[in-house]
Amino acid sequence: MYPSRQNLKALFLCAIISLGATLCKAQESTAGTTTVTEWQYGKNGAVSLTYDDASRNQFLKALPVMERLKMPATFFVITGPITGSKYQGKFVGRPVKEIIQESATVPTSDQNFLERCSAAGYLGYMGTISYHTKAGGMYDSGKKEKAFKLMDSLYAKVRHGDFKPGYEPCPEYKEAIGSTWDDFRKDAAEGYEIASHSITHATMPGLDEANIKYELEKSKEEILRELGPKYTFSCEVPYGYENERVMQIAYKIYPAFRNRMPEPWLKEIDRASKQTPGTTDKDYIQWQRGATTKTPLPLMKSWVDTAATKNNTWLVLVFHGIDGLGYEALPSTLLDEYFQYIKSKDEQLWVATFGDVTRYMREREAAKVSGAKKSNNITVTLSHSLDKSMYYLPLTLKTYVPAGWKNVKEVQGKVSNQLSVKKDEKGSYVLYQAESNAETITLSEIQKN
Ligand SMILES: [Zn+2]
Repeated sequence: MYPSRQNLKALFLCAIISLGATLCKAQESTAGTTTVTEWQYGKNGAVSLTYDDASRNQFLKALPVMERLKMPATFFVITGPITGSKYQGKFVGRPVKEIIQESATVPTSDQNFLERCSAAGYLGYMGTISYHTKAGGMYDSGKKEKAFKLMDSLYAKVRHGDFKPGYEPCPEYKEAIGSTWDDFRKDAAEGYEIASHSITHATMPGLDEANIKYELEKSKEEILRELGPKYTFSCEVPYGYENERVMQIAYKIYPAFRNRMPEPWLKEIDRASKQTPGTTDKDYIQWQRGATTKTPLPLMKSWVDTAATKNNTWLVLVFHGIDGLGYEALPSTLLDEYFQYIKSKDEQLWVATFGDVTRYMREREAAKVSGAKKSNNITVTLSHSLDKSMYYLPLTLKTYVPAGWKNVKEVQGKVSNQLSVKKDEKGSYVLYQAESNAETITLSEIQKN
């Protein structure tokens, strides 16, 4: 039997109603669904400006540009040269005279290399630190025999009296002289991250464990005393080394390293790599780029464009010298133009210190978030199990709300905000900042009369 015309109409109406109800139900069932956005404020990508070595022009020339543009940055500072520091470079071990004497009869080998290379800058003579720097680099890259020979030649010269007596630190150390802890306290109060870059800019793959610990632990102690625990979070082992032995010692002293981090959800592309952030199954890509005097500005700008368009990329820019002082010194006028360009991408990019971006990613990966739709509001809880003294950043939450909601009130503890409703393919949603491990968040519709 065929349905009558009347019945057909009814069937059709019925189909329309049930489709509408399904659509409505879809929006209703999404309501309450909450996630932590990939980046703070729901932005597409993150950028960190980082400076190494604390050469004086970073503060005299580059810092005023960033202050004017209100951009944060991280300074990895060598603590030894800072006026008021307690700890200077030294060799932790037996008297160097014994080591010099022994070198006359025992050639350098795997058994004694690290001791000799650790002591190399502290033998009581000028100009010996460059032997430590070079040999440490050779040893790191597997050129052990060359490193042993270089140590043999240094100790032979010392025994023959070829050097003038005294102590001479490396060039990076000398270029950092002039800053005081008061200067850094002022920078920190403005939102800049001051972080460790060791005491003397030592070549750590050429140091034994006791001397690596001295360089990292005592620079940490210095920063802790002068600036407080917030600034003992990030560290950069000098020269960007990613040496496994060094990193295993270093991870126990600082929670975050620009050199490399062990997170399984993070892909890292270091400064030397020609790779660009392509596709990955990891949640985040840390893309380090170091501009040198040979890097064209359009290329530097294209890095920013990539971070702004992809949604998982953290561009970490590495700067050294400024206006003629320091390694690969860039003109501050060029940085001014570059930073203005980064600033113009404010809608897409979260510019934050190295420490804050690391905190955000780790908090998000560890976050437990859940939202529930009640009769006339939505409640959301947010927590993580990380050390709260170190991981204290509020996170950006995205919560879907019922289709009819136009204006939303968000309350967490004593804080209350009005949110505007945005829309994507899944429905209506709001974005807001929430504290972890704090009060339940309540979202409700603002009824307008
Ligand atoms: Zn450095």
